[in-house]
Parts: sequence; structure tokens; C-alpha cells
Amino acid sequence: MTNPIRLLIVGAPGAGKGTQATGLAAAYGVPAISTGDIFRENIKNGTDLGKQVQEITAQGKLVPDSLTNELIRDRLAQDDVAAGFLLDGYPRTVGQVDFLTDLLAEQGGAIDAVVQLVTDTDAVVERLLKRAQEQGRVDDTEEVIRHRQEVYATETAPIIDVYRERGAVVEVDGMGDVDEIAQRILDALAAKGFAPAE
Ligand code: AMP
Repeated sequence: MTNPIRLLIVGAPGAGKGTQATGLAAAYGVPAISTGDIFRENIKNGTDLGKQVQEITAQGKLVPDSLTNELIRDRLAQDDVAAGFLLDGYPRTVGQVDFLTDLLAEQGGAIDAVVQLVTDTDAVVERLLKRAQEQGRVDDTEEVIRHRQEVYATETAPIIDVYRERGAVVEVDGMGDVDEIAQRILDALAAKGFAPAE
């Protein structure tokens, strides 16, 4: 069997990260793991974890590392990650980066590549505002949307820097057509020596 591929995807809210994560994971035949989706599923099903995180996620705050890290430890212990995985929305703090690094090191591995979707903030804000108008999302004001972009810039930037120092970051232009962006990601990963297996 070929070596497992362990990928992260990072990008600003509204950058189309979820869409790209799904396509990219399918191309590599690995599961896309989104901590946000796992939390939402638990909230929907009324589990203990769901009850613990409901309030926190509703306020747009981060779930404590202790809970999030244990969730990832369990998820990465499942059989379907044998060929690797694509993480979306985790790690989000430097503490989570450290936890993940140690966890993978225990298995003799590490994150192979971090795909950074680079977007133009004004263009993304404009797109999100249009969507808010079309779908009647009254809470998505320009102020709220801009705030989320700022939080991404301030809180996620240090994480990207950690992986950049390790030489793992692949920057991809995240503006434009969905299929074109998907192809750019595949080309950038292939150039780094991580083409999907045939
Ligand atoms: P997302 O869909 O990735 O934006 O996640 C939705 C919400 O789940 C976030 O606003 C956080 O409250 C929580 N969440 C998701 N991933 C993490 C994480 N890695 N660390 C802490 N909280 C998270």
C-alpha cells in the first residue's frame, strides 16, 4: 500500500473551503473530516457532546481544545483513515496544532501538506453579502461578515505560519471558478510530490 496522505485545508469563511474539501478528499480517496460538521451532527442528535458545545458554537466561540482534541483522537483512530485524511476546520489553535503533531508522531507520521486557499477579502465579503440578501439571512450583516474574516486572519494566521516554517504550506489562488480552483489545488499538490494514487 502507498503511504497514507494527511492533508489540511485552510481558508477564510466563505472561501469555498467545504466544497473544495469534499472534492479533494474524493480525489485522494480519503475521508474529509470537518470538526464543525461533527459538532453540528452531535447537536442535532442531542448527544452529551452536543449539549456541551451547543451554546459555544451558537456564539461563534471556539470549543475548548480539551474537547476538540479528544474528538479528533477518536476520529483518527477509526479504520477509514488508513489511507489518510483531509482535515477541514481543525486545527484552529496553536494548542491543537501541538496536539495533532504529537498524535501523528506517535504513529510515525505528520501532516504532509496544508492547502491554503488565498482569497480577496472584499470580494468574499461582497459574495457573502449577496448570499445573505438572496437567502434572507438577516444576521449576516456586513459588520458580522467582516468580523469573521478578521477573526480568521488573526487566529488562523499563526497556525499557517507554524506549518509554513515546516515547509508544508501550499498556497492556492481561491478566487474564480470552483472547478478551476479544484484543478489548481491538485496541480499544486502534485508539484509537491503528492499526486493522487491511480
Ligand atoms: P465551522 O463549520 O468549521 O465554522 O465550525 C462551526 C463551529 O464549531 C465553530 O464556530 C466553533 O464553535 C466549532 N469548531 C469547529 N472546529 C473547531 C475547532 N477546531 N476548535 C474549536 N472549535 C471548533
